[in-house]
Amino acid sequence: MTIDQDQATDSEKKISWTLTRDENFNFRAAHWSDLHGLLHDALPPDIFFWGHLFLSFSISHDKTSVKVKAKVIQTDENIEIVGDLLVAADGCLSSIRQSFLPDLKLRYSGYCAWRGILDFSGNENSETILGIRKAYPELGNCLYFDLGFKTHTVLYELLNKRINWIWYVNQPEPEMKGNSVTMKVRGDMIQKMHQEAEKVWVPEFAQVMKETKEPFINVIYDSDPLEKIFWDNVVLIGDAAHPTTPHGVRSTNMSILDAEVLGKCLKKWGADNLHSALEEYQSTRLPVTSKQVLHSRRVGRIKQGLVLP
Ligand SMILES: Cc1cc2nc3c(=O)[nH]c(=O)nc-3n(C[C@H](O)[C@H](O)[C@H](O)COP(=O)(O)OP(=O)(O)OC[C@H]3O[C@@H](n4cnc5c(N)ncnc54)[C@H](O)[C@@H]3O)c2cc1C
Repeated sequence: MTIDQDQATDSEKKISWTLTRDENFNFRAAHWSDLHGLLHDALPPDIFFWGHLFLSFSISHDKTSVKVKAKVIQTDENIEIVGDLLVAADGCLSSIRQSFLPDLKLRYSGYCAWRGILDFSGNENSETILGIRKAYPELGNCLYFDLGFKTHTVLYELLNKRINWIWYVNQPEPEMKGNSVTMKVRGDMIQKMHQEAEKVWVPEFAQVMKETKEPFINVIYDSDPLEKIFWDNVVLIGDAAHPTTPHGVRSTNMSILDAEVLGKCLKKWGADNLHSALEEYQSTRLPVTSKQVLHSRRVGRIKQGLVLP
């Protein structure tokens, strides 16, 4: 996508107008399965342990190795794997991070995100698709942000006839069951969301939301930047190292860059100098990701009309 456009919507008159526009955006959007496919095909097949649930780890007394216990979900059998280094890429609720920082609490942002992907393959000329293309003429080449009163949305087209949308809604922190920031939603919640969408957004966008199968909710958290992201031979990367709100639209890039820098540091220092490699990784990435997390937090609060500290 070459364009990034912020627009404002008047909910009563159902009209939108452009606030800012960047025509040199140079942004790539991908569906997870496409990104995972690329990674999978680029890596040796024997490094994947499908259907394994990480349980725990222990660092050897001399701190030269780390042992991981994992459960094979299909057989219920537990296995152990010993390595030089444990790279914790277990996401924003990282249990590995929690073992070093048991008191760290994530910060609830004050809002949740309704999300959905409308697959319109075979329906390219439906009224809904023609309508959304008329209301958002640069769909396919533009990342649209719509600001309403204390709320905002993100809208863009993915490859293979899919439209991705996100709608941020201010609300008290929901009670979460299980270890996930994704919330299962009931039919009545979806219906209420559709009704609200009709009140707030232009009818073409509300219609896309209505036609999307299985929309879901992400509860949005971040964390104040950590002071360190490695302990002996355990290192955090991605959301585990820096839980963030998504308003920089680049949290996956942050994770991928972590992986690249970590790989380069390990290559430079070698397995015999693990500490130096992790030290360099931390000093390269932590100052950058810390700023990005706080910037994203500020952008989110402004777009949701929340008080700034
Ligand atoms: C509403 C919203 C919109 C977003 N929009 C964008 C965007 O436009 N662009 C962007 O770049 N990013 C976006 N992101 C952020 C992006 O999704 C994350 O930053 C990214 O997924 C982080 O990657 P990760 O690999 O660190 O963690 P994750 O993707 O969370 O991966 C962690 C993995 O670890 C696994 N895991 C955890 N515990 C265990 C265990 N015990 N055993 C085995 N496996 C385990 C999990 O199942 C998961 O697969 C958005 C996020 C949200 C919530």
